[in-house]
Amino acid sequence: MLQAHMSNIRLKVLDGVAAAMYWAKVWQPYFRMRRAAGKGALILTFHRLVDDDSHYLFKAHSVQTHVRMFEQILADISRHYRVMDLNTLVDYLCEGRPFERDSITVVFDDGYEDNFRLGMPLCTRYGVPAALYVATGCVATDGGSHGALWNDRLEQALLGTCYTALNPGDLGIEGHPSLNLKHRPDLLQANVILGRAAKALAPVERNDLLTRLEKLLAIDPATYRRVMLTWDEVRGLARAGWEIGSHGISHTIMTRLPFADACDELRESKRQIEEQINRPVRHFAFPNGNAEDFSEQLATACQEAGYRSVASCVTGLNMPGANPLSLRRMGITRSVPRTLLAMERHFMAAA
Ligand SMILES: [Zn+2]
Repeated sequence: MLQAHMSNIRLKVLDGVAAAMYWAKVWQPYFRMRRAAGKGALILTFHRLVDDDSHYLFKAHSVQTHVRMFEQILADISRHYRVMDLNTLVDYLCEGRPFERDSITVVFDDGYEDNFRLGMPLCTRYGVPAALYVATGCVATDGGSHGALWNDRLEQALLGTCYTALNPGDLGIEGHPSLNLKHRPDLLQANVILGRAAKALAPVERNDLLTRLEKLLAIDPATYRRVMLTWDEVRGLARAGWEIGSHGISHTIMTRLPFADACDELRESKRQIEEQINRPVRHFAFPNGNAEDFSEQLATACQEAGYRSVASCVTGLNMPGANPLSLRRMGITRSVPRTLLAMERHFMAAA
């Protein structure tokens, strides 16, 4: 307990020092000095963007970025690095060309509606060419909750209910007292406890748990806010110059699917997106994307399905000549200074 408390304090001090240095512009001379470094390419991965009007419950920083933080990151990367679109990055890697400067590529995973509403105008303003890996089964086709990922469905159920308490035991989740649903901190805690229980289940049981939760909370999923993109919006992003890649259909971790089913998702998601946007789909990103969530066999299957690049969530820099079928990426951390520091650590480690 004391140890956790101490590490929390240490984290806050570190955040404070990084933020003070950043806002006092202590880093500016450093950035000027290293501008021509030319070492490698970093892919920055975003998921959902939120603003003050968004109805959401806290989730990890890596999957949810406030729009002000997003804008600050765009301002910094467009000033201090070369921003490169995904397709050009893959051209460099395929040709084994050295990068003239350290390069950053901005990508989004999953297909949240805020990518269109909040992300697209900012990327246009800062001249940052972005890419979206969309999971086709998650695209909203009925203007309602259709396609929402399970964690968003859980969030919407908790935010939408009029009930003020829930007994997890009624859902077969043991070991927790009755959950209060009155105030935001209560909801945050309920989201963590129920989310943890749901994550441990297989997709069919998870779906069943959420259906029972919705019944218990007397909430109609048809009333949920739409959180995923529509195909119209995906087309809008493509028209604005975004590269649209595939993230599979069902957002199931590929190594947990029978191999033939995984291959079907690779081919069919590509076909569906191409039919919708009338452009070739050339890039794929594995759902979840940790080392255990993909394999070399699956990366080869991506190539056979017609993709020219495949991305994981294994963190790291892409050096000249790196294999485009195993692109590394970096997630966003808790603040702009911490994210920039993490980026710089990658570039410095490669120097
Ligand atoms: Zn994803």
